[in-house]
Amino acid sequence: MDELLEQLVNDCMGYTKEGRVASYIPELSKVSPDALGVYMIASDGKHYGAGDHAAHFTIQSIVKPILLLQALLDNGIEFVSARVGTEATGKPFDAINVSEQRLDSENLNPMVNMGAIVMCSLIHGDTYQDKIRRVLELTRRLAGNREIDIDEAVYASEKAYGSKNRALAYLLKSYGLLEDPVEDVLECYFQACSISVTCKDLANIGFVLANRGRTPGANERVVPAAYTQYVNAILMTCGMYNGSGDFAIRVGVPAKSGVGGGIMAVVPTRMGIGIYSPALDTKGNSVAGIQLLEKLSQQLYLSIF
Ligand code: GLU
Repeated sequence: MDELLEQLVNDCMGYTKEGRVASYIPELSKVSPDALGVYMIASDGKHYGAGDHAAHFTIQSIVKPILLLQALLDNGIEFVSARVGTEATGKPFDAINVSEQRLDSENLNPMVNMGAIVMCSLIHGDTYQDKIRRVLELTRRLAGNREIDIDEAVYASEKAYGSKNRALAYLLKSYGLLEDPVEDVLECYFQACSISVTCKDLANIGFVLANRGRTPGANERVVPAAYTQYVNAILMTCGMYNGSGDFAIRVGVPAKSGVGGGIMAVVPTRMGIGIYSPALDTKGNSVAGIQLLEKLSQQLYLSIF
């Protein structure tokens, strides 16, 4: 398996030239665009890795399923789904895209920024420091890594250049979808996006989602199986931004990408996979990362379809 992964990294390396690193904040634009790494944890407990799998990068949107899990643990499915919907587009079958749409919770899902910002407000904690501490703790447990922490430079950059997210959060507030003070909620969101991880961390988190809530090796339960089913379904339909349909066809497993260049893939009952390659396509997905996952899926028959 290690050889297969090495081979795929070599085959896909050239695709890093076809993307661009994220530049919406200065801190992310500094990374080298040509890295590519993959790490895999299989259901027999074996670990495999190739390429730049030990590199650290920020989790960015891959924290969204973790925010959702924490909100579910704190409030249950009924409460959470009543506040943020689960539909990919939130639009009816005959929607005319040019129309002005009312913002209501049914039209959001937890994998878009607005939905994830609401998740931050649903997570329990007396203060926003408490909330982010609990998100960090859940991330460490899911990844089996106590050393996971926040990248302070990226966090400072997110906060300094977060106008768009501020606009989204104030819009949520004006529609009555956010109870807490906007800046407090954003504090949690910006810090959560700035959690620093490796491919191995993402593979571990993906494994727990693939293994109905239990960790590899120790088989310790971190979250109820019903929550992994909920999260995986949303990842399948909404996890790869507006490239989720194409990804479902080409790779065919639940996954979440982030603009830091990471992809966490969940192969139900079989494996968790972490990818890092920061050159992104225009939708924000790692170009070489998707290519590698597509080839891996073909080789190992990973598609659930
Ligand atoms: N911190 C980023 C933002 O909210 C995350 C974006 C992403 O990875 O999709 O703008």
